[in-house]
Amino acid sequence: MNISKRVYAKVDLDIIEENLKTIHSMTSPDTGIYAVVKADAYGHGAEKVTNRLQELDYVKGFCVATLEEGISLRDSGITKKILILGYSFPEQYEELIKYDITPCIFREDNIEALNAAAKKLNKVVKVHVKVDTGMGRIGITPDEEGLSFVKKLMEAPNIEPEGVFTHFARADETDKSAAMKQLKVFNDFINLVKDKLGYGFPVRHCSNSASILTIPEANMDIVRPGIIIYGLSPSDEVTAPDFKLKPALSLYSSITYLKEVKAGTPISYGGTYVAKKDTLVATVPVGYGDGYPRSLSNKGFCLVRGRKVPIIGRVCMDQFMLDVTDVKGVSLDDEVVLIGGDKDLSITTDELGVLSDRFNYELVCDLGKRVGRIY
Ligand SMILES: *Cc1c(COP(=O)(O)O)cnc(C)c1O
Repeated sequence: MNISKRVYAKVDLDIIEENLKTIHSMTSPDTGIYAVVKADAYGHGAEKVTNRLQELDYVKGFCVATLEEGISLRDSGITKKILILGYSFPEQYEELIKYDITPCIFREDNIEALNAAAKKLNKVVKVHVKVDTGMGRIGITPDEEGLSFVKKLMEAPNIEPEGVFTHFARADETDKSAAMKQLKVFNDFINLVKDKLGYGFPVRHCSNSASILTIPEANMDIVRPGIIIYGLSPSDEVTAPDFKLKPALSLYSSITYLKEVKAGTPISYGGTYVAKKDTLVATVPVGYGDGYPRSLSNKGFCLVRGRKVPIIGRVCMDQFMLDVTDVKGVSLDDEVVLIGGDKDLSITTDELGVLSDRFNYELVCDLGKRVGRIY
């Protein structure tokens, strides 16, 4: 089926590749990149994004959140490393090993099961150890207990502890003290393992987008950029002078209905908007069922014929309305830009995140299955 004109996203893979080049130029030349493509590459389409990025030699691998995401990348032709950032369930170990996907590990009760699964398949499974240095989510503690965990891993014949990593909770803030403390705890633990166990992890990593932009000393063997690959900002507190983020995704629809209403006419559910004057109202066939936030009701904007026009009334599941009274020559089937640029105006995902009181990460991840993607 053709992609419907109802609502579709254009994803510019050249821009994504350019963003990667910029990221690479900001890190030291021998720092590799594991591109984070969880949640369908933040809504951009993991298959297309990874197949493009796999060609870059400094892209050493990809990070996903689940085994299912990893398997679908392998099935689409990805041969580079795939690391699962979240928990992998023991009943999936054999599948994980067969697909040559790298789990992270942090639960002692998993070591034996993982070793057994690898042994059964006559393989050695590479793992990355997750260390909790201050995120409070998953990971071993960076102390004697953590040390004994690493020792057990080293003793498991069919497990190879290839990597060690941690994750920053507050690298996207202006005040870097919490992140710097995490970095120190992480480095101390790596040194402790070296001193006490004589083991140096070959692949150490901790940097997400925010810290790639602002904490260069955190770029170790590899970095794990996510949101900046897609040209979106990790937070409004993160700015780097020479990094021009280029959004890769834009979102379009078209006007399906136009009507003039008299002053006093209510628009959409709840009548939360009432026309103050005679108004030309356009209907756009997109709604929160597509991931377009309902909280943009009476707050959001779109572009029509190069003009910024306000959303009036509530955003419904599949449709919403715009006041297009001031758009010269507006007509049925006109293109509506929901995210992107038109002439000198633009609406960015970052901006919509603020307007809708949501998170820019969330907006792109939530773009639904009903939204076609054009590359
Ligand atoms: C999601 C995630 C990232 C990427 O984060 P961004 O802020 O998008 O760069 C990196 N590491 C881990 C562990 C993650 O969960």
